[in-house]
Amino acid sequence: MKFSPSFQVDPQEPWVAQHNREAREVWAAFKADRPTRVPVRFTGARTIYLEEKRIDYRTYYENPEEMLRLQLEWQRRALELPFGDTILAEAPATWSVTVDFHPVASAACFGCPVVFRPDAVPAHECAHLSREQCRDMPMPDLFTSGLLPREREFRDRMDQLCDHGLNFLGKPVKRSKPNLPSTGGGTFSTALDIRGPEIMTDMYEDPEFVHAFLERIAEWQIALHRAWCESDGMPYGMDQPDGGSYSLFDHGIDMLSPAMYDEFPAALIIKLCKKYGKRPGTFLHHCGRGAHLFPLMQKKFGLTTISALTWPLNDVGRVRREIGPAVWIEAVISDSILRTTPAAIRQAVRDFFTSEVKGHGRLSLWVAGEVTGISAENYRALYAAVREYGRY
Ligand SMILES: [Zn+2]
Repeated sequence: MKFSPSFQVDPQEPWVAQHNREAREVWAAFKADRPTRVPVRFTGARTIYLEEKRIDYRTYYENPEEMLRLQLEWQRRALELPFGDTILAEAPATWSVTVDFHPVASAACFGCPVVFRPDAVPAHECAHLSREQCRDMPMPDLFTSGLLPREREFRDRMDQLCDHGLNFLGKPVKRSKPNLPSTGGGTFSTALDIRGPEIMTDMYEDPEFVHAFLERIAEWQIALHRAWCESDGMPYGMDQPDGGSYSLFDHGIDMLSPAMYDEFPAALIIKLCKKYGKRPGTFLHHCGRGAHLFPLMQKKFGLTTISALTWPLNDVGRVRREIGPAVWIEAVISDSILRTTPAAIRQAVRDFFTSEVKGHGRLSLWVAGEVTGISAENYRALYAAVREYGRY
């Protein structure tokens, strides 16, 4: 395997030292709850690297060597790009790699067709099974269904490479453990993947079916992760008296009313927590437009963080009013804005950072960079605008 020999930025250069000093100060103030400006978490190095090198994303999934090489190269690239509050040009003590078939692994187990794309992570189609098919469906094998055999093959090969003393920029490379197959968007979104949006009609026509179907999927996801933890020689959080919580993570809940969310996903979370002696997770990833569910979630589960809350898809000021000042919000500015021009981005950031949105802090910005087509110039403009309008 051929790797880059060094960072392309020099930590001794004045601009790098200055950038790192500011980033450290901003994060320290944020964590101490005395923010000086909104911090920016930038994770767009992956797509930037793929575009710079004109790499077809499909090659990433073809063999474990390429998956490992690309993960290392874009971790390096992330430490060179001054588009967020990242400490630049400092290698970690250990580089971490992982087998990554996010977000399609669990949908593929259920027979949803997967499409590998040249410029983005893979996607899958809905299986559109009937209610009867869903009822009669045997649950997929925990090791041999869908892409799981390929995941195992990649895992073994990555281990071989890492165990033979693989180094990158002078630091050892290790596979992160446990390496769990992605369950995509969580339990409800997997139900949507299998049954389709008809699941929402089922909620009215055959609620017993929906309760049973969601519970079967959730138990299967728990069993999947338990099996993969064990095969990785790691303890499983749900089995530990003091470890793990049952996650709230769920894509696709946007379309549910608070009453339906309460009756189905929330009731299931509470049921499983009771069964396994866990608390509901208080960290919510939500990249959709389900802000109408947050007050209920907060009442039921006590949210501490809402991550990936996208603007202008959601009225972040209103969310803040409804959930109060204590919850950490990690906001995202929509890709459709980031694809425009530096001037438009600057204007958007100015509009976004109202005093209500900034509040007394507990607000950070996540620049996810999951899509191609956003220029380095635009990322630079975004960070500059946050440095200007994101101050307290
Ligand atoms: Zn998401």
